[in-house]
Amino acid sequence: MLQAVMTNPGIIEIRDIQRPEPKSDEVLIEVKRIGVCGSDIHVYYGMHPYTSYPVVQGHEVSGVVADFGSDVKSFSKGDKVVFMPQVTCGTCYPCRHGMYHICDHLKVMGFQTDGAAQEFFPVVADMVLKLPESTSIDHAALIEPISVAVHAVSQYGNVEGKNVLVLGAGTIGNLVAQVAKASGAKKVLISDISVYKQQKAMECGIDAVVNPQQDDLGQTILEVFGPDKADVILECVGVQDTITQAVTYARKGSTIVVVGVFGKKPTVDLGLVQDRELKLFGTLMYQKRDYERAIDLVKNGKLSLDNIITHRIPFNQYLEAYKLIEASGGEYMKVMVDF
Ligand SMILES: [Zn+2]
Ligand SMILES: [Zn+2]
Repeated sequence: MLQAVMTNPGIIEIRDIQRPEPKSDEVLIEVKRIGVCGSDIHVYYGMHPYTSYPVVQGHEVSGVVADFGSDVKSFSKGDKVVFMPQVTCGTCYPCRHGMYHICDHLKVMGFQTDGAAQEFFPVVADMVLKLPESTSIDHAALIEPISVAVHAVSQYGNVEGKNVLVLGAGTIGNLVAQVAKASGAKKVLISDISVYKQQKAMECGIDAVVNPQQDDLGQTILEVFGPDKADVILECVGVQDTITQAVTYARKGSTIVVVGVFGKKPTVDLGLVQDRELKLFGTLMYQKRDYERAIDLVKNGKLSLDNIITHRIPFNQYLEAYKLIEASGGEYMKVMVDF
């Protein structure tokens, strides 16, 4: 079978290797789609702080069950599946307290351990989730980033009837906004400096968009939400400007969820956090319940997903996915690698 190996930043070799046999507790997945995400792009540029080379990428994956080990009872050949790409220790404090997604020794497939950029990929059955037959294999490959959004929104709690501001309209920001809307938010406003991404957010049915370089963000918040402003602000970029906006435009007592991954250390006015009793939450990845909710949202057609899959590349041209992203001038959402 073929495997795509990133041997060094910016270099992918397609190798022909032995097809793996599933161990007794594993499901062997025939990989169908891999989504390329922001963290993968950091690996491509050699900028990911916790990844060494060679590495097999691929953590946003959908496929079908090709085979399974003798102890696996809950899957059949041909089942559509996704998997959670986390490898956890099971013994640290977070693992012992139901927070395995922030395991002290967390490894993520495609970064610190091999990912699924190969024709067949074995995964421990506990981490594999079966999908309804009606779910498209394209949408299935978005379950992973949707789960990131589900978990981020759940850090606030129930958004039903709440005003939600999302800073950043990339794939994660877009999905966070869509999940908030699907969860009954009263109004969702999304902010981005890219006209392309604003357009995508509108196509996906987000209530309002703003370009903070053209319009006054504080004024727009008042126009869209009224004087009570945003109940929750989800920062989905990970740069100084957006975290500053979050703290500056928060209402007294509102909640900020930090979703973006910061390349550079930001400076945050914690005086405002104190004085306004702001609640500041981090969010990382997801748990199984977030995957289950994501699968449900997709099954019930609650999300607009076709218009965020903007590009496709065949598996044997894996590197082209990154070339295409480089050449896009930021005008892309999800690039899908097709098998
Ligand atoms: Zn990802
Ligand atoms: Zn652990």
